[in-house]
Amino acid sequence: MENDRRDFLKKSALLGLVGLTANLIGKDKLNAIEDLTQKINDGGKFTLPALPYAYNALEPFIDAQTMEIHHSKHHQAYVDKLNKALENYKGDTTWTGLFSQASKLDASIRNNGGGHFNHSLFWQLLKANPTGSVNLPSGKLMEAIVKNFKSFDDFKKEFSEKATKIFGSGWCWLIVQSSAPGDQSGIPALKIMTTANQDNPLMDVATENGKPILALDVWEHAYYLKYQNKRADYINNWWNIVNWQTADNLLAGK
Ligand code: MN
Repeated sequence: MENDRRDFLKKSALLGLVGLTANLIGKDKLNAIEDLTQKINDGGKFTLPALPYAYNALEPFIDAQTMEIHHSKHHQAYVDKLNKALENYKGDTTWTGLFSQASKLDASIRNNGGGHFNHSLFWQLLKANPTGSVNLPSGKLMEAIVKNFKSFDDFKKEFSEKATKIFGSGWCWLIVQSSAPGDQSGIPALKIMTTANQDNPLMDVATENGKPILALDVWEHAYYLKYQNKRADYINNWWNIVNWQTADNLLAGK
């Protein structure tokens, strides 16, 4: 009896969370996420997306060797393991289908699905051929950042601190959520949050749910060759190669 009650409460909580996830993210905005990454699902198998630039295009901030190993070895491994893990999976394999029930998934699907999705997004959010000039967002994204964090510098500081403090492997994210009830500004609510391992803010297991518009990989494999243990230096340099245009497109739901 007690078990039944506990199961019922657990299920209710989970359904509530899934409902909340859908509500916070909004179906229209999720489509952009599916479009950005799901198009590489080839005949039921996931495939490694080509990088939209050369391995050395992010020099000197991320070196070519790190990019080559990160993309062709690490990301490829997530793709291969995800395909293997999904061989007998009968459920919905869209990102929203998988991530909204991450807590119930086999660990291999959760970890490698997250790994594939997160990296596919991460590559798009890096800007090739940095010019050395100050790299800032503009338009609606800048407006939303200033409204939510007081200033770009305050935002940058909070993001860098949270990314630096992640214990072990994980990701730091900027997510967009629905505006608070009564907010008539039309400016979206943004939040900085982190996830462990290959989890992401679309997963029901995340501390906050929302649509990611900025992603930073702080696994050691993302920086160790060039930066060794100096994660803060890697993060500090990453600001030079953030692709704010992609982030702005994601915010706009494009
Ligand atoms: Mn990585």
